[in-house]
Amino acid sequence: MKYSIAIDGPAGAGKSTIAKALAEKLGYIYVDTGAMYRAMGLYFLRLGIAGEDQAAISEFCKNVRVEIVYQEGIQQVFLNGENVTAFLREETVGRMASSISVYPEVRLKLVELQREIAEKENVIMDGRDIGTYVLPNADLKIYLTASAEARANRRYQELKEKGIESQFEVIKQDMEERDARDKNREFAPLRQAEDAVLVDTSDMTVEEVINSILAII
Ligand code: C5P
Repeated sequence: MKYSIAIDGPAGAGKSTIAKALAEKLGYIYVDTGAMYRAMGLYFLRLGIAGEDQAAISEFCKNVRVEIVYQEGIQQVFLNGENVTAFLREETVGRMASSISVYPEVRLKLVELQREIAEKENVIMDGRDIGTYVLPNADLKIYLTASAEARANRRYQELKEKGIESQFEVIKQDMEERDARDKNREFAPLRQAEDAVLVDTSDMTVEEVINSILAII
């Protein structure tokens, strides 16, 4: 019997940091589903297909292969046989991932892969629709959130540490647009599952969030 923990929430709530740390403590596999949507985003960017062109996106979804491999416990994403992990955090890729993730054709392709992994391994999976759609029977569901201010500030600091100059207001607005798209799409939108535990991380340190979830586990 395999165990699964679903962590959903808006951008910048701290999902990946928390999920990664918990996976390490519990000996589970961390599945970053955002990276899969980013790989699909990269695919369409490279093809020069616009994020609004649903017909072309549906067509090209038929032949794409996204695979996940773990190297020393770290998730690597392969796109049609090429390891594209290093390209996935770029802004253009994130923006495209947000646009194309509204389409059921894109989502269904990835959901299948996500469910396959959860059948074989104990997983902590983070995303937007894990508790509501991908793994409705997950053993524990966490809805991780924080104020828009706190989330934008984290993203801003993260970029600053990487030496990337950005404007706080622009980041906040961009984040709000992406959240709205995730919450308002028709197919598997972002929302808190009825049986998910809400954790608001606005005024919590990473350590506090990890400990509070460990206590729930
Ligand atoms: O979490 P991350 O920013 O890497 O995800 C990139 C984009 O993929 C998000 O903006 C969101 O629109 C989409 N996504 C999704 N469902 C998931 C994970 C990510 O729609 N389970």
